[in-house]
Amino acid sequence: MNKSYDLIVIGAGSIGVPVAMEFAKKGQSVLVIDSLSSPGQGQDKKAIGGIRATHSDRGKILVCQRSIEIFSHWKELYGDEIQWKSNGYSFPAYTEKDEDMLRDLMKIQQSFGLNIRWLSREEYRELNPGISIKGLRGSTYSPEDGSASPLLFTQSCYFKAVEYGAESRFNEPVVGFTIERGKITSVKTETGVYHSANVLNAAGAYARGVYKLAGIVIPVNSDSHEA
Ligand SMILES: Cc1cc2nc3c(=O)[nH]c(=O)nc-3n(C[C@H](O)[C@H](O)[C@H](O)COP(=O)(O)OP(=O)(O)OC[C@H]3O[C@@H](n4cnc5c(N)ncnc54)[C@H](O)[C@@H]3O)c2cc1C
Repeated sequence: MNKSYDLIVIGAGSIGVPVAMEFAKKGQSVLVIDSLSSPGQGQDKKAIGGIRATHSDRGKILVCQRSIEIFSHWKELYGDEIQWKSNGYSFPAYTEKDEDMLRDLMKIQQSFGLNIRWLSREEYRELNPGISIKGLRGSTYSPEDGSASPLLFTQSCYFKAVEYGAESRFNEPVVGFTIERGKITSVKTETGVYHSANVLNAAGAYARGVYKLAGIVIPVNSDSHEA
């Protein structure tokens, strides 16, 4: 009988690797599968690493406040350098429309208890001397937000996951599932079949395609960010 895992994670990215680490830490057997050659080769590696709680949706704010807590204590907890910086986050406005939008959003953010305020053009320039001043109207500023290295963070999670016993298969795109009586029992890649009753689809922008392999239609729509 082939080994059966407690959890199979499809996608070794920003979501999949930390989840695998947490499960493995709890003593669960975990297998991570990715079509690329190593962890963090998808969107994870394109992110600039901004970690902010300044959103407009309550759920997102709560999750991101918890993220800041975790990222800011990572080195103490795990001993790994992830380049956390409590450097704050700002959204400068150059048009009246953007200023109105940011100030309106700020009221919602403040009502959720977020530490965010409006800086005048001069105050913002002092904080950020490199900013283009032409047409600048001011900026939001949330000092408790920060940043970390996506590369170092995902590597740290990956090696902790391995230390806790997680296994991984790279260069193996998931191509299908075995479904018995409406439940997934195994995951098929181009080169192998892996058994588990629990599968996490952490394929990011490709999650819709992975769901489709199981006959599930979920409206995951990706959109482009510039870097
Ligand atoms: C330019 C840019 C800047 C960004 N900046 C920030 C930022 O500052 N802060 C922030 O929080 N977010 C930022 N993001 C967003 C962030 O990068 C993503 O939200 C995050 O990486 C998504 O994580 P994920 O695990 O869902 O996807 P990914 O990290 O993309 O992981 C998905 C993985 O699934 C794998 N996969 C897909 N299909 C299959 C398959 N069939 N079989 C096996 N494996 C498969 C992929 O190879 C990939 O490794 C930015 C994004 C971009 C593009």
